Amino acid sequence: MGDCAAKRPGADIPLPPPYHGIHASPPRDGHKKISWMKPTNRSDRVRVRRHTCECKATIYELCAAGGLLFIRRTTRGKKVEIRETERLVATRMEELWVRLLSGEVH
Ligand SMILES: [Zn+2]
Repeated sequence: MGDCAAKRPGADIPLPPPYHGIHASPPRDGHKKISWMKPTNRSDRVRVRRHTCECKATIYELCAAGGLLFIRRTTRGKKVEIRETERLVATRMEELWVRLLSGEVH
């Protein structure tokens, strides 16, 4: 899990503490690669279940659509780039989400 100074109890928190969400850990050595694909133009309704902190240039979102889950990656630079994973049943994608946040896959 990403470390977040704002969430850690203690006296050395800068004031006012900014709110931070989840931070994805940097990829570990030997991490597995996720195949990131161009977003499909499916017309189904996408609900974002979880997302990582907005303070990073790259945001990951765990999305649900049509009974399946996928992860969307938004890279904000000069140009915004959006990529998505394949769609999987909830249990498998939730597992991938946790592994992504811990840096096991990237
Ligand atoms: Zn943050």
